[in-house]
Amino acid sequence: MSILVVGSVAFDNITTPSGSVQNVLGGAATHFALAASYFTTVRVVAVVGDDFTAEHENVLKKRGIDTRGIERAPGKTFRWGGSYTDNLNEAKTDFTDLNVFEQFQPKIPKEYADTEFLFLANIHPALQITVRQEMNGVRLTGGDTMNFWINRTPQQLADMLRLVNVLLINDTEVKMIAHETNLPRAAQKVLAMGPQALVIKHGEYGATIFFRQGAFGIGHHPFRAPALPIEEVQDPTGAGDSFAGGFMGYIASQGEVNREVLKRALFYGGVMGSFTVERFGTDRVQSLSREEIDARFQIFRELTHLE
Ligand code: AMP
Repeated sequence: MSILVVGSVAFDNITTPSGSVQNVLGGAATHFALAASYFTTVRVVAVVGDDFTAEHENVLKKRGIDTRGIERAPGKTFRWGGSYTDNLNEAKTDFTDLNVFEQFQPKIPKEYADTEFLFLANIHPALQITVRQEMNGVRLTGGDTMNFWINRTPQQLADMLRLVNVLLINDTEVKMIAHETNLPRAAQKVLAMGPQALVIKHGEYGATIFFRQGAFGIGHHPFRAPALPIEEVQDPTGAGDSFAGGFMGYIASQGEVNREVLKRALFYGGVMGSFTVERFGTDRVQSLSREEIDARFQIFRELTHLE
């Protein structure tokens, strides 16, 4: 099975209570692709500038990620600066230099046409829609968005929601889309807008999946997965995208897509997010092993297991 991610490849400047780094490889598509690469074949569609070197590309290639869809445009790669003070769950954006990302028009190589799973990372919903329509043979589409699009392009976002099977966003974003402060009610409203399942990320507290009635099998209840309490979170950047990479990657690695698979995928999402935050940038997730991932999956099970 294979999965295609469309989104940002970036250079990040990050400041956290543990220190700061400059020009580290980041971007939603990068974090997603690295995390998903432990489960399935990953293909990327993104744009970078002249400052993106073979060394940067090798970080992805070493994980077997197909980079043929990374377009090189004249100019600089997208740059993002973020800092975290007391609340490690929320980044404050210091700057966003779109650079070549401003004119991004995703181009899907023909070799990618047979991809079974699709993840639309956080980009303009109009672009997400174009990609989804072009990849009309996929088995399952996951999607992400952010407050910027929720506020600026609500109509296009609503159109995008009708085209994704699983939406993965954080709890404040769900409430913002639904104009509703109660989480389960907000979840029901967002599900009524299109997705069959909604994965709500609660930062360091885990994630909950809500299902549309009858979707992916029977059952009425949402399901919650924990997060691993980590003593030193060095850098939360990319946790959400690595979560999505673990979640979607695990689903793509299974023959079937049903509620049990989606619940286990929620655990694998948490596992990949927990690795990401242990080091700055992509440091931790670019050099893991499947054994380390499965050992941590066991810890996640034990966190919530009752005799
Ligand atoms: P996360 O912490 O999972 O929400 O993702 C952080 C990553 O998203 C960083 O590596 C940034 O480079 C990237 N990013 C930040 N702002 C944007 C944006 N407006 N559009 C696309 N990607 C972004």
